[in-house]
Amino acid sequence: MTTREEKSELSPAALTAVRRRLEEREALLSPFAARGSTSRGRKRPEPPSPLRTEYQVDRDRILHTKAFRRLKHKTQVFIAPQQDHFVTRMTHTLEVAEVARTIARALNLNEDLAEAAALGHDIGHGPFGHAGEEALAELLPDGFRHNYQSVRVLDQLENGGQGLNLTFEVLDAVEKSSKAREDILAEGWGVPVTLEGQIVKIADAVAYLNHDIDDALRAGIITEEDLPPAAWELGRNHRERLDTLIADIVAASWDATGARTDVRPQIRFSPRVHALANDLREFMFRRVYLYDATRREAERGKRIVQFLFAYFVEHPEAISPGFSLPDDPVERRAADYISGMTDRYAIRLARELGCPEALEWNV
Ligand code: MG
Repeated sequence: MTTREEKSELSPAALTAVRRRLEEREALLSPFAARGSTSRGRKRPEPPSPLRTEYQVDRDRILHTKAFRRLKHKTQVFIAPQQDHFVTRMTHTLEVAEVARTIARALNLNEDLAEAAALGHDIGHGPFGHAGEEALAELLPDGFRHNYQSVRVLDQLENGGQGLNLTFEVLDAVEKSSKAREDILAEGWGVPVTLEGQIVKIADAVAYLNHDIDDALRAGIITEEDLPPAAWELGRNHRERLDTLIADIVAASWDATGARTDVRPQIRFSPRVHALANDLREFMFRRVYLYDATRREAERGKRIVQFLFAYFVEHPEAISPGFSLPDDPVERRAADYISGMTDRYAIRLARELGCPEALEWNV
């Protein structure tokens, strides 16, 4: 049998040197950083990659999935936007990854793990953002949550139903990246076991707060004058607000660098900035996320998901292979298939099948 090393053009000595150098770099990270070499590992053990750490491997696997590519046509807040500058799940995901990497690097934590988990954190989001999620949650007996679905996509559905065999730490960070409604960092699904997982959770909030303001301004739902005092305290524009939030997280989480080892570090905002971020988030809920026009579009998306679900439960033979597990109950298979769809694919398909809500929707 040919090993990876034999197929490569680098000599075995060079490959060993690369791997050793990568591990030496990881050894220089904070004592609180996650390290590939001490990962809790993968469900199915694999030989290590000669050129990449465990978390680099995970990042690449996520990036090369079809599910990742489909994020470009999935809603962040504004459904199936016609204009090119609105944020989609793809650009949101990339922004989360960049914010997470900046924080991880500043705190001397594992940037590769933060990046991998950030790239996967929303991969289970269905079409029409939270409206699609709500529709599926009502239709499935066990409910539907995008964070669990992200883990399901990565761990079971991708790679022809084999899953990507990712490390425990990446899957844990993806599962726990989601937050409950009460607070910008509310513990809805537990605390990630790694600080890098905590970074992804906070980076998600930093990214969406900022780009959703931009999109709401772009859509004309709010004007700059409407922004609450909290927004101005954080900064005069997108760039300043991002800077303030990220610098605050790094300062408030400094123990994570190993500066002190007698405490259990946590990734957080300072109390003042935490309160400002929450004020801003409340404003966004009131004026943007729950705004009538946003809701109307969302209702339309929800009805399309309900229509498609009823159709596929009735016609399981129409579920394309590779998007669900053949032995699962038909409801689960329908939900897996629909949640993999982009907004535009769901709208077009619903239109072809005669769904009244989809007929007028130009995508
Ligand atoms: Mg997100």
